[in-house]
Amino acid sequence: MLINYCPECAGRMVERIVETRARPVCSRCGFIFYQGPKLAVATVVVEDGKLLLNKRDVEPQKGLWSFPSGYVDLGEAVEDAAIRETREETGLEIHLNGLVGVYSRPERSIVLVVFAGTASGGEIVVGNETQDVRMFDLDDLPKLAFEHDQDIIRDWRSSGL
Ligand SMILES: [Zn+2]
Repeated sequence: MLINYCPECAGRMVERIVETRARPVCSRCGFIFYQGPKLAVATVVVEDGKLLLNKRDVEPQKGLWSFPSGYVDLGEAVEDAAIRETREETGLEIHLNGLVGVYSRPERSIVLVVFAGTASGGEIVVGNETQDVRMFDLDDLPKLAFEHDQDIIRDWRSSGL
């Protein structure tokens, strides 16, 4: 990410080594711009042995199936983001049962927090950024969008959630 001006004082940013990494630092006020990963959430919602998936209508992996997911907004609790994204993409209201896991890789800029949930209301409506929404038999899943999707299903199965 390129940042030319300080968000604190609009001074020129320069690159300096801070705590072993090159980071943008303000040449005027010394503000250090720490770049962190983006936080995203996903939900594993299972009903009668069927898993809720949506067909992605956005890149990356547009047209492939994955869990309801999205970014956590600033000022939003991670749990609330998981419930909101599931509602926006699938029409279902859920309550959360617990944490399945946290998924990240050094080469990716996203940290994904995954919760298990149970539908508590609403009905399936194909929502934003989605081509289709369906419940799939856990033993007969379509090709999933992301490498970590299989890890998530494995971790969900062993979690007992
Ligand atoms: Zn500054």
